[in-house]
Amino acid sequence: MLLPKRLRNVFSGAKLPRMSEKTLFQKIMDREEPGDILYEDDLCVALRDINPQAPTHVLVVPRKPIPNLDALTEEDEPLVGHLFMVAQRIAADEGLADGYRTVFNNGPDAQQTVAHVHLHLIGGRKMSWPPG
Ligand code: AMP
Repeated sequence: MLLPKRLRNVFSGAKLPRMSEKTLFQKIMDREEPGDILYEDDLCVALRDINPQAPTHVLVVPRKPIPNLDALTEEDEPLVGHLFMVAQRIAADEGLADGYRTVFNNGPDAQQTVAHVHLHLIGGRKMSWPPG
């Protein structure tokens, strides 16, 4: 029987979008992968970076799996503010009274490697500018 194209797509598994894979950070949040989590709440999780670039290097990651900065919508505005407030509190807890840096790497030119938006909190040493 010939089905209209739309219905054929529905019935052909190959055409259906695959269940999206969990990101590495979602797996860490869900305790499916190990991670050094130092803070979590309903909206985000903060974990120590596995390859720290300074004495303190923490990633503040929203639970919502937004792939990158470009994918943020107006709905995410309070969430982004929350990530910064959490970073501020962690910086205080880590004793970063002399300063710290917060960074969102967005896209290949910025060397983003994990497609789940995250705020880097880096501190505990004197940094240079411009960044490399
Ligand atoms: P970005 O390059 O901005 O996407 O940042 C991804 C960060 O995740 C890098 O700084 C990595 O060192 C870090 N990272 C990768 N795998 C892990 C992991 N399993 N646990 C903690 N941090 C990780």
